[in-house]
Parts: sequence; structure tokens; C-alpha cells
Amino acid sequence: MMKIPVVEIIEKIKNKTSMDDEKIKQKIEEKEKELSGLVSKEGAAHIVANEFGIKLFKQKESGLFKLKDIAPGLKTASFVARALNIETPRTFKKEDREGKVCSFLVGDGTGKLRVVMWDTNHIKLIEEGELSEGDILKITNCYIKEGYYGLECHTRSSSEIIINPDIPEAKDIPPIDKLMEFSERVKIMDITEPGTYEIRGAVVDIADKEPFFEVCPECRKSMKEGTCPNHGEIKPKHSMFISTVFDDSTGNMRVVFFGNQAEKVLDMSVEEAKKLAEDNNDPTYPINNKKMDVLGKELIIEGRVSQNDFSGDLEMIGRKVIKPNPVEESERVKEEIENEN
Ligand SMILES: [Zn+2]
Repeated sequence: MMKIPVVEIIEKIKNKTSMDDEKIKQKIEEKEKELSGLVSKEGAAHIVANEFGIKLFKQKESGLFKLKDIAPGLKTASFVARALNIETPRTFKKEDREGKVCSFLVGDGTGKLRVVMWDTNHIKLIEEGELSEGDILKITNCYIKEGYYGLECHTRSSSEIIINPDIPEAKDIPPIDKLMEFSERVKIMDITEPGTYEIRGAVVDIADKEPFFEVCPECRKSMKEGTCPNHGEIKPKHSMFISTVFDDSTGNMRVVFFGNQAEKVLDMSVEEAKKLAEDNNDPTYPINNKKMDVLGKELIIEGRVSQNDFSGDLEMIGRKVIKPNPVEESERVKEEIENEN
């Protein structure tokens, strides 16, 4: 695990620039606000350090990261991982130009990451069938940011994408069916470091906050006052965000859900929630109205855990929500009991 405390990052920025602690803290807070709570204080500090050209991470000899060590704000990262799914490239319009974007998930056995490609030469690899599901990719010189559903690697035109490279690192990547399995199920009390985990438990509290936010229908970026940073003025789509406390009896943790995942937890579509809020003239109405149905409802959540440096607590972004299947679950419990004996 790679974790650099915020104080250490501040120290490094101080050494490289002539700013004092106050000024640096202010910059980090501004960055955090700019990203409207999307990243932790640590994440914001990483981005600020990168803006000053400060390298926080020493890369390994080969210069290749393991996915578990990749952090938001990295400006140049390289890694080897297997493509787990390939989505059809989408076309978007920005001002007068048309562009394409394609995203897919990769895994290397230590973590998963969403790769987002913007370059037509890269997208061609997919359109022409050279790059497909299950291929091992070496991707160089991409940058890392925190997206709604966890970390994203964005490629640049200068990023190199090598398909099925003949290098030792490629031989360590598990087969696709292993990578597609759920992450390891853990007890909340055993989650002591960032990573991707599966937990089973129940929502025990939901914050009474307005759940709605606007996203661009083209690129799914969050929008402010009807304007997308990529697409300008555009009619937004509504999405939901909820912040919960999730408990599995060994401990609890803040778990946040966006979009479809939030709809699944609330058991209500964003349209239904929006209507409830409007009918009652209260944006928090759908949360308060559904709360008692949701609390205590058993769920299995897979998500990415990272540290919130305001509180220092580990938090999860839920990216898969499923209701337990009783047969499968009782098999698992039986297996666990057998393994213990
Ligand atoms: Zn957009």
C-alpha cells in the first residue's frame, strides 16, 4: 500500500515552493472544493503536489505500477493489466468537433481500474478488433483521476498501448475468470488499508442530504448550473448520491453510492425520487421517506476503499450492490464452517 500522509505532502510542497503551511493548506482546500467532495483531502493534496511538478511516488525499477498502488493525481503512470470488458466507443460532440471516448475495466489481481481512452488511434484498436476482452495491456504515460465509480486512468495521444506484451509482468496477471470474480469478502473490522473489497451487512444510517446532482448526458461529468466542462450548455440528466453508514456487526464504515447503485440501495429510480421531492417541495423527502425501509436491509457491496483525511477514516465507494442470494449464501457459510474445522 502506498499512502502518504497529508502533512508529509505539505512538507514536500513547502520544500519545493516558497509557500507557507497556511497557503498550501488553502490550496488543498480549494482543490477539494473544486472537485466538490469527490476526492479525499489526501487526493486533493496529491493533485496540488502534482501541479507543482512534485513527484510523490517512486516508481519501481520497471516503472510499472501495481493497480493497488495507483493513486489519484498521478500525472504519468504505467502499468500492466488485463482488459475485463470492452465497451463500444461512444461519440460525443464538443462545440463543433466530434470526438469518441471508450472506457473499460482492467484488473491485475491487486486491484481494478477504469481505463478511459480519448485518442482515435487508441479507439481504433478496439474498433478494428485488435484489442479485445481478456487481452493483457501495457499502458504507459496515462494520468490518474478519481471518477464517480473509483479510479480512472485516462490515456493521452502519447500513451503507448501494447497488447499482450512479452514481458515478465504479464505472466503474473491472473486469468480473466479469476479477475472477474468478486473481490475477496472481508469483515469490516479487517479492512485496514485502501483497496477493493466485498462486504456483507446492512445500511444503518443515511445522511439527510439532498441526493440529486446533475450529470452531462454525453460524458457523465458532473455539471454546474446547466454547463458541462466538456460540452458547454446542455440539458442535464439527474443522478443520485447517497451517503450511508454500513455495518456488518464487526464494525461499520461510511459507504457512498452514486447513480444506479444509489437507486438500488434506495429501491427507487431517480425519476421516482425526483417526483417525490417535487410533490413534497422538499429535496430530502425521498431519503426521509425511504429511510426506514432501507435501514437494516441486507446487502452485499463491492467497492473501493480509500482514506478520508478530514476524518482519517476509511470510506468505500460502492460500485456493485447485490441482494444476497439465500442458497448461495448458505453454501458459503457451510464452506466457511467446514474450512474452520
Ligand atoms: Zn459533457
